[in-house]
Amino acid sequence: METNQRREFLKKSLLGISAACLLPGVVNASTDMVAFQLSGQQDLVYRTLGKTGLKIPGISMGTSNINNPNLIRAAMDYGIKLFTTSSYYGEGNNELMLGEVFRSRSRDSFLIATSSRPEGMDRQAGIFTDPNAVYKYVEDIEEGLKRLGLNYVDILFLPFTAKRESVFFEPFLRMMENFKTQGKTRFIGTTTHSFCEEAIRAAADTGLYDMVLTSYNFQTENVSEMNDAIAYAANAGLGIIGMKSQAGGFWDRERTKPINSRATIKWVLQNENVTTVLSGMSTLEQLQQNIALMANLKLTEQEMNDLQLTSANRNPGLYCQQCSRCIPQCPNNYDIPTVMRSYMYAYGYNDLRYAKKTLGYAKIPANPCNSCDKCNIDCTVGFDVRTKIQDIARLNDVPNEFLRA
Ligand code: SF4
Ligand code: SF4
Repeated sequence: METNQRREFLKKSLLGISAACLLPGVVNASTDMVAFQLSGQQDLVYRTLGKTGLKIPGISMGTSNINNPNLIRAAMDYGIKLFTTSSYYGEGNNELMLGEVFRSRSRDSFLIATSSRPEGMDRQAGIFTDPNAVYKYVEDIEEGLKRLGLNYVDILFLPFTAKRESVFFEPFLRMMENFKTQGKTRFIGTTTHSFCEEAIRAAADTGLYDMVLTSYNFQTENVSEMNDAIAYAANAGLGIIGMKSQAGGFWDRERTKPINSRATIKWVLQNENVTTVLSGMSTLEQLQQNIALMANLKLTEQEMNDLQLTSANRNPGLYCQQCSRCIPQCPNNYDIPTVMRSYMYAYGYNDLRYAKKTLGYAKIPANPCNSCDKCNIDCTVGFDVRTKIQDIARLNDVPNEFLRA
């Protein structure tokens, strides 16, 4: 859609959104903000998603936190092209919501990526262990397609790849290939949260994958190794999609010090090998801010200071590097990286349901750490691991119905 046409279209569709915003718990935006954006509409930055040849905006939408279809519609009207979901978001309700939106849109007006949660993972070792887990994965994706109301998705991801062996795990490799040859997805990719450089290089080396979705943000400790791995995969023709750009969203557990989210996205897009950033925008304001920032991707001095890029002692905030260095130091072998992800989802993203679910994967006992007099773990970013584990472990005792859906 041409820019002028898009402005006119937005003017109309945002009138609908403004009305929706009057409802409590629906998209939260003031009419002033809408007016500001209508006059300040910017062109989007487009990049090509590797060998797929797809040209998409530098910002894409992660939908896990969204339960209002109007926000998805607004994003589409603003020109956002790629949306990601998963069969485990909201126990399938996220796919149903997206399906409702997609029904009234032409199939070529959006790109949808999905995934499920593979079973049989040894998270600590970063490998897949159960060849039979393919059956459940296939079933989940088939069910997800029905909920989306689609015959095929544009991108199917295999999540949680980590060590090289996980990417080359034959049953999943063949499963992903089959989805593509059966026409149930146009493209396939992997996602990675831990051992990311290794997983990215391995995805390129398979010669099968079209893209990688990876954690990548201004808090990344091994940034030069990550940049090298990203360049390696991009040179092999893979599209690179960044996630976790906001590194938890807050500097503090109390959520009094938000991280400058504009700056975090710009930081990722400074790397021209990254095609797009998956942003979990859950309000109209966030969507509008993201659209607006594409007008100028250069980080200002203030934004660099906001991210503490020039500071020698950077605050790690809530972001765990998922480096697993702590695990062998713990006599109980706790899956600390997963617990720390849960901590970030709870305090950073304020998503207690997802935090509790994630905590469940770590399988820590009730009253963890009681067997130790003190914790000697030397964490890469200096976290007080014991305090954090004992804090977040309380979530296991809270019934789901008390947790915001
Ligand atoms: S205090 Fe907890 S995290 Fe630390 S070493 Fe002991 S069991 Fe592991
Ligand atoms: S808690 Fe610390 S050592 Fe453990 S994975 Fe996170 S950053 Fe690494």
